Amino acid sequence: MAEQENYYIRVPHGPLVEVAEEVYRAYHQEERRGRTLEEKDQRNGLVSYDGLDTGELTGQEMIPDRESASVEDTALHKVMLGRLRRCLAQMDGPERELIQALYIDKPGKTEKRPLGIPTIRDRIVQECMRIVLEPIFEAQFFSHSYGFRPMRDAAMALERIDIIMHNSGYYWIVEGDISKCFDRIDHAILLKRLYHMGVRDRRVLQIIKAMLKAGVMDECEANEEGTPQGGLISPLLANVYLDIMDEWVSKQWETKRTRHQYTQEQGRYAAMRKRTRLIPGYLVRYADDFIIATDTRAHAENWKARLQLFLESKMKLTLSQEKTLITDIRKNYIKFLGYEFKMVRGKSRRGYIPRTIPDRNRLKRKAEKIAEDIKKIPRNYSQEQMIGAINRINSQVRGIIQYYKGCTWVNISMKKYSRWLQLTAMRRLKQYKGKWIPAKEVRNLPRVHQEYKQKIPSIKYRDFYIGFTALTFCRWERTPPKDQAETPYTEEGRQINFERTKHKCINARFDELYSDKAARAISYGKWGKLNNFEFIMNRAYALNRDKLRCRVCGGWLISSTPWAHRINPNLPLDKVNRVNNLVSLHKKCFMAVNNPCQGISQFDVKAQKKIIGYREKLVSSHTRNK
Ligand SMILES: [Zn+2]
Repeated sequence: MAEQENYYIRVPHGPLVEVAEEVYRAYHQEERRGRTLEEKDQRNGLVSYDGLDTGELTGQEMIPDRESASVEDTALHKVMLGRLRRCLAQMDGPERELIQALYIDKPGKTEKRPLGIPTIRDRIVQECMRIVLEPIFEAQFFSHSYGFRPMRDAAMALERIDIIMHNSGYYWIVEGDISKCFDRIDHAILLKRLYHMGVRDRRVLQIIKAMLKAGVMDECEANEEGTPQGGLISPLLANVYLDIMDEWVSKQWETKRTRHQYTQEQGRYAAMRKRTRLIPGYLVRYADDFIIATDTRAHAENWKARLQLFLESKMKLTLSQEKTLITDIRKNYIKFLGYEFKMVRGKSRRGYIPRTIPDRNRLKRKAEKIAEDIKKIPRNYSQEQMIGAINRINSQVRGIIQYYKGCTWVNISMKKYSRWLQLTAMRRLKQYKGKWIPAKEVRNLPRVHQEYKQKIPSIKYRDFYIGFTALTFCRWERTPPKDQAETPYTEEGRQINFERTKHKCINARFDELYSDKAARAISYGKWGKLNNFEFIMNRAYALNRDKLRCRVCGGWLISSTPWAHRINPNLPLDKVNRVNNLVSLHKKCFMAVNNPCQGISQFDVKAQKKIIGYREKLVSSHTRNK
């Protein structure tokens, strides 16, 4: 979960924001002006890339055209190389240990020992490269490539298929499978593509070349959810490589240029269908997983054959003959990104509506894993440890729901395992006198549980219950079509993203509050006796009551960790952590309340009043209890 969050919330920050935006804008406009990159290359006499294939790069091929040169000068040279030099200098200096601490692997992963200095050095170089290169490529990548990219996910890819079916009425699908795609990426072709997409700086290309030689692409791997694992720059480079395919496929139909300018995309497609003998095809790609939708079986076969030729001759990749299936989506499910997708008869303009279900084998495996984990909870666990275990199981269940809530049949699929898991959980709670309690009456996962009356296995703690959440606590959520303006590299794009993910952020924040880490810190007494289990449960409950807004300034408590302030900290231990004694605040607001000497002129009048109010309550609580 944490891994995924890091990947998607990698919005540039600090002085890099402006540079990234500038780069993005420059390359984006290039595209919009309608000149293809190839034409640009020819104009500049830059058609030969041979210098990149072998040996040293000579300065000759690297004479860039003026427009992008200025951009590269600021972004690539000054910022990145400067930053890189500073980072690397620190590696050998007194801050060495600090940097090392930053890069120690997260708990829960197989490798737990700190990384060696060469590995860290390597990661710093990779990350610096990614920061500068990503905006260049993001400005040019194919609209319907969804994997390994910021602010995009598998659900959007699926939604895109639905839109294609709805608009075109094409139901024949080529389910693409490239054999060992990431292992077979050809370095020379990749370097050419980088150059072609505007990375003209010799030093940058040389660093990438060295990284490729060192085997950076071996790190390119995705887990079942399609999140890249390990590698920092390899997922980006994989997308650059596969962009060759995106460009070729989409130019055959989707982005085919016509002499007449059509005001509407649909009008253009209709005209192409009527007046040309072009074979229609819409591509949706997620990392190395992709589909092409077309109108007939013959055309699907044709696509498969042509694509195979293209991949082999231009990209040195192999389209797997057995695994690249051709499916009539009205008759059979296609499997894509852990979902199964089909069009069934229903009320719509074309008489078909989508039906998506979680990949049956995968869901079964995941449910079985959770049942195993429940059974494995040690017999000698204290009540507090048991609550920690429940929170861990719950976050696994919520993870499955988060991934599959875009399925139209999500509830039907989940029902199959929900009851079974609940009974397994109840058996495990026997020694703690577990009870079936309506979900809305338990204290944990308030945002989810407040909507359900269904009884769940629960354990009593102090004056409240903590329960095992159910797989069926999910509602189908329609994924809106991807807004192409949503990107980390413009102010507008970040705003769109915020609006879209607000609720997702809220839920992630709640999951974090119940995290294993917090539970463990408490059971070891690391947070002091005031911060006990009751506190950890109740601060989340209070945050839900406060609707995720700061009680001092009214701002969202999304991007930073919310702080729980005790209105009267001198109450006895059994009362001090009650929900009605807790309010949620920003760290800066919390500090202002708890530090009476601090000036508060930076807050607006309303917030100042609140701060003064809480300060007075603190003072009176001291005097009353003395
Ligand atoms: Zn605040």
